[in-house]
Amino acid sequence: MPVDLVRIQRLCSALKIARTSDFARAGVSRHALAVAVREGSVLRVREGVFVPADALPEVRTAAAHGGVLGCISRLRLAGLWVLDDDDGSVHVVLPRHGHRRRSHMDCTCVVHWVAADPRGDRTTLVEALRCLLACRGEESFFVALESAMRKRIVTETVVARLRDSIPSKWRWLVDFARWDADSGLESLLRLRLRTLGITLASQVEIPGVGRVDFILGDRLILEVDGRLNHEGVSMRHKDRVRDAVAAAHGLDTLRFDHAMIVHEWPLVEAAILARIDRGLHLERRVGGRAR
Ligand SMILES: [Zn+2]
Ligand SMILES: [Zn+2]
Repeated sequence: MPVDLVRIQRLCSALKIARTSDFARAGVSRHALAVAVREGSVLRVREGVFVPADALPEVRTAAAHGGVLGCISRLRLAGLWVLDDDDGSVHVVLPRHGHRRRSHMDCTCVVHWVAADPRGDRTTLVEALRCLLACRGEESFFVALESAMRKRIVTETVVARLRDSIPSKWRWLVDFARWDADSGLESLLRLRLRTLGITLASQVEIPGVGRVDFILGDRLILEVDGRLNHEGVSMRHKDRVRDAVAAAHGLDTLRFDHAMIVHEWPLVEAAILARIDRGLHLERRVGGRAR
């Protein structure tokens, strides 16, 4: 491969999204750039904007808008658990200042405008989470945040910076977030019960039973099943055994799966509230005194 093409490729890979001016500054001629595009060394996604040939489709889409990947699209790329209510739209971030660029085609992209000029091909995690809160609301924000904390792709400093950057009325979400939430479903359940004024003990070790997702009150175990159906019979058997062992210890178990928590929440809520209303989450008392 001619030397110029290698240089152009490297420069584009380093910048993630490169402009004609970036190449000009590096002494690349317009002719050499045209050759690189023709040879497929880099991709031209719009007038004067280039991405590496192996750029992800979402990144190409964002660059074609003249922006970078942000919000839920950026978080999904980081492997975070995001609420599964997405229509597959790419969320693009464009700088608010600087000339407004014409949107490409009739597309389903969601465009966000930010004050800073984003670098590279995606926003920072803090920016993406902050953006998600405004875009999708508190639940989406909270589950993504706990997923980032669980994966340790954010540090305490980053979380503190995030807390400072969001409106004060939402800061309790950051304070309420834990580093050990096992799944997005757990995060969602905990958050939704908290808004009902119900607090839970998380990840509780019970002798003979093992670690359970949550304990409500003294004796109601809540388990969140994120497993897929095909994971089968042996796991279901283990769950049955666990429930029986818990029952032998005087504990009740309620189990909820993904579909219930995400799509049938009123039923989940009714099941939990019915137990609470009848005091079934508390140690049974005889004659007004604890056993
Ligand atoms: Zn688009
Ligand atoms: Zn968004």
